[in-house]
Amino acid sequence: MLLLIPGPVQTRPEVRAAMAVDIAPWDDDFRVEHAALRERLLRIAGGTPGEHTVLPVTGAGHAVVEACLRTFVPAGGKVLIPANGTYALRMVRLAREAGRVPVTLEVPDTRPVRAEEVAAALAADPAIGHVGMVYSETGSGIVNDPEAIGAVVRAAGRRLIVDAVSAFGALPFRMDAHPECDALAFTTGKCLEGMPGIGIAVARIDRLTACAGQAGSWVLDLAAIHEYALSNGPGRHRFTPAVQVLRALGVALDFYEQEGGQPARLARYAENARVLYEGVQSLGLTPYLEWRHQGPVIVTVHQPPDPAFTLPGFVAALKARGVLISNFFNTTAPTFRVGCIGTVTPADMRVAVEAMRGALDSLGVRQRAAA
Ligand SMILES: *Cc1c(COP(=O)(O)O)cnc(C)c1O
Repeated sequence: MLLLIPGPVQTRPEVRAAMAVDIAPWDDDFRVEHAALRERLLRIAGGTPGEHTVLPVTGAGHAVVEACLRTFVPAGGKVLIPANGTYALRMVRLAREAGRVPVTLEVPDTRPVRAEEVAAALAADPAIGHVGMVYSETGSGIVNDPEAIGAVVRAAGRRLIVDAVSAFGALPFRMDAHPECDALAFTTGKCLEGMPGIGIAVARIDRLTACAGQAGSWVLDLAAIHEYALSNGPGRHRFTPAVQVLRALGVALDFYEQEGGQPARLARYAENARVLYEGVQSLGLTPYLEWRHQGPVIVTVHQPPDPAFTLPGFVAALKARGVLISNFFNTTAPTFRVGCIGTVTPADMRVAVEAMRGALDSLGVRQRAAA
């Protein structure tokens, strides 16, 4: 089966096999392995040893995004969230339920957030201390620009939290070029092509110290995770981590480095997205985003107006042809979504387009272009 969803992604057998061992997380052998893993992740994040640190939180990606919000935004503090998709709206909900005050900057889900919009919103409300941005908006496939948005946050003297969950490893970002950034959040199971199960924050050490004690959660407190590691040995976990997932991530990073790191991964995903985008057009379908706004992580496509089309029917017909896509959509208009990340290649994307042709023909979907 070809798994074309934006996480958990298709992985290599060697990565999955790395999980088939029993490990004690505190064992000295594993601690050495874990320390090396954290160093490699810090390098990929463009962090500086002594200034930034790597903090794993076992759980889904939402857990580490919530941990970032709780750790750095004080209770009752305002966080501006530019929202051009569902993942930003999820950040709004995480902030609200954690007792922070989200200020939603609504942007259509068909274009990136503009830095001027963020600058204007910050100028209008001096009480906003943080901006929480989604780098790759997995709802639609749009990529927002952390360079431009980071620059206006920096100029306004505010702080930044980046949800890079579907971006990290493929889209560029360097913590050392973003002093305004408190934390960058990502997971093991997306562009790093590891197994799902652990969220990771790369955070500024000075800010972890300054923000100690305000999370209002023992589990989701990055400052406490950092403090524990300091007093008990680097990388020491407070609670039982998904330790096999960490081991598998080390193997996934071997392949990441062999491939050529971030630029190579971005190039492969971008080519995957291009083949898919042009492929669905060749079938008469209409991509949701204009090509100039199309990111490399996920391609969303308008559902054909033909009454013969249903999303469950299409997903089942594709699955019968060996391709698994999401059975839901997150855009304003009805779409289907196809992931371009994981151990998949442009050749796989051509296979997927042919499977879509077969699925549409078998369902009798003739009217395909969006109205
Ligand atoms: C996948 C993803 C998350 C986290 O999703 P989980 O299901 O909690 O792992 C958060 N933000 C973005 C942008 C994502 O793509």
